[in-house]
Amino acid sequence: IFALRSSYYFSTGVVEPSSSLRSPPRVPNLIGGKFVDSQSSSTIDVINPATQEVVSQLPLTTNEEFKAAVSAAKHAFPAWRNTPITTRQRVMLKLQELIRRDIDKLAMNITTEQGKTLKDAHGDVFRGLEVVEHACGMATLQMGEYVPNVANGIDTFSIREPLGVCAGICPFNFPAMIPLWMFPVAVTCGNTFVLKPSEKDPGASIILAELAMEAGLPNGVLNIVHGTNDVVNAICDDDDIRAISFVGSNTAGMHIYSRASAKGKRVQSNMGAKNHAIVLPDANTDATLNALVAAGFGAAGQRCMALSTVVFVGDSHSWENKLVELAKSLKVNAGTEPDVDLGPVISKQAKERVCKLIQSGVESGARLLLDGRNIVVPGYEDGNFIGPTILSGVTADMDCYKEEIFGPVLLCMEADSFEEAIHIVNRNKYGNGASLFTASGAAARKFQTEIEAGQVGINVPIPVPLPFFSFTGSKASFAGDLNFYGKAGVNFYTQIKTITQQWKDLPGGSGVSLAMPTSQ
Ligand code: NAD
Repeated sequence: IFALRSSYYFSTGVVEPSSSLRSPPRVPNLIGGKFVDSQSSSTIDVINPATQEVVSQLPLTTNEEFKAAVSAAKHAFPAWRNTPITTRQRVMLKLQELIRRDIDKLAMNITTEQGKTLKDAHGDVFRGLEVVEHACGMATLQMGEYVPNVANGIDTFSIREPLGVCAGICPFNFPAMIPLWMFPVAVTCGNTFVLKPSEKDPGASIILAELAMEAGLPNGVLNIVHGTNDVVNAICDDDDIRAISFVGSNTAGMHIYSRASAKGKRVQSNMGAKNHAIVLPDANTDATLNALVAAGFGAAGQRCMALSTVVFVGDSHSWENKLVELAKSLKVNAGTEPDVDLGPVISKQAKERVCKLIQSGVESGARLLLDGRNIVVPGYEDGNFIGPTILSGVTADMDCYKEEIFGPVLLCMEADSFEEAIHIVNRNKYGNGASLFTASGAAARKFQTEIEAGQVGINVPIPVPLPFFSFTGSKASFAGDLNFYGKAGVNFYTQIKTITQQWKDLPGGSGVSLAMPTSQ
C-alpha cells in the first residue's frame, strides 16, 4: 500500500506513514529533517488541472509547527555555517546528480499538479538544476577582498558570511525551478532555510527536499511548511528569519515586501509581468512568428517570461494572419499526452479570469482573431483548457492590456514607428522583459539602450538568464536591491564583514592618542 500510494514523493520511506497512508495522501511538512504530517484539520486540495482529480491534500500548517520549523533552522545554523564550504558544495554536487537521476519523476509530478506538458516540465527542472550546478562553485562566488598594508602593519579584508535563517515563498508556475532559485544558493552560502511552496503544486518541493537530504544536507538546514496567507504572514513577522525570497503576483509580493521590510528583513520580490515583443518589418518572418507563438502560448502563457503582447511596427502588421494560422496548429491536451503543445491553466478560477479578460477586450473594441475559450479536449472534458487566443487592435487603455492575463492569450498592437513602439513598452508599469525582432543592428542597439525592461531579447523571446547572470526584472516586476541567483543572489544571502588587523612589533611608550585614526 505504501508503495502504491507513494507514486511521487513518499518513495524514500522518510515520510511519516500517517501522511502517505491517507487517501488522498497528505503533503507532509519537513521539520528538523523529518517529513511529518501536520496536526492541522484545515486542508486545501491539490488538484490535477487536466482531470480535476485530487492529487493530495495540503495542510494549513499550524503556528506551532511553523515555529518548530524556524526553530529547527535556527538550531541547525551554527553547525552548518561552520561546515567547510567545500563540504557544502559537495552536497550540491551530489544533489545535481540526484536531480538528474529523478528528473522524470519530478517532471511527472509537475505535470500532474501544475498541468504543463511533460517536456516543458523537464525544462522547469533543468533550469533549476543549472542553479544547483552553479552553487557547486560557491567558494569562488562568495570570496571576499583583501588590501594589505592599509596603514603601516595593518591589513584589511572583507568576508561574506551567511545571514542565518532565510525563507522562500513560491508561485505555482515553476514548481521546481523557483524553489531551486532559492534554497540551493541560500544553503550553500551557509544559511538554513524555511521553504513555503505554492499551495497549488507542492509535490516537486517535497521531492527536491528528499533529494537534498539524500545528498547529505543535514537535518534542519532545509525545512518546508505549507499554507497560504497566514503562514506567509508568520514568515514576514518572525524575528528569527533574516531574509525572504518571494516570487509571485504583485498583490502578494508588495504585501510581503512591505510587511517583512518593516521588520528589518532583506526581501527580494520577483513579481508580475507584461512582456512585449516589438516586430520590425525587416525581421525574418518565419523565425519571428515561431518565436512569438512559442513564447506566447508555451506553458499555456503561465510564465512570467511569456511574450503576451506583440507590437507590430508598420507593414509587419500584415503578419497577423500567418500568426493565427500557426497558433491554430498547436495541440492542446493533457500534459501527459504525446505531442502536446500546451496543457490546461492551473485552476477553474484562473480559466474564468482569463476568459473574462478576453471578453473585456472584445467589448472594448479588440478583434478576436482566434478564440480558444470553448475548446473541448476529448477524454479531459473537465480540464481547465483554453486554446490559443489572439486579440488584435488592442490599445493601452483596455483591461486586457493593463492586467497580466497569465493564460494562452496573445495581444496584438500596432505602431507607426519604432519610436512609438518603444514608447508603448516603456509606458507599461511592468519591466520584466521585452524583445525585439529585426535585421537591423542599429535598431537592436537603440532598443537595448532605450527599453525600460530588466531582461532584453534581440531576435529571441525573453530568456530566463543562466545562473552565472541574475534574473533581472525591473520596475513593477521587482522589489528589492539584489536579484535572484548569480552574483546578486550570493550577495542577497550573505552579509559583508570587514576585518582590520594589525600584526607588528609595537613600540612601547608611544602614548595615547584620542584623535580619529588616519592612515598616511
Ligand atoms: P501568487 O502571488 O498568488 O502566489 C505566490 C505565493 O504567495 C504563494 O505561495 C501564495 O500562497 C502566496 N500568497 C498569495 N497571496 C497572498 C497574500 N495575499 N498574502 C500572503 N501570501 C500570499 O502567485 P501565483 O499565482 O502562484 O503565481 C503567478 C504570478 O507569479 C504571476 O504574477 C507571475 O508573473 C509571477 N511570477 C513571477 C516571476 C518572476 O520571476 N518575476 C516568476 C514566476 C511567476
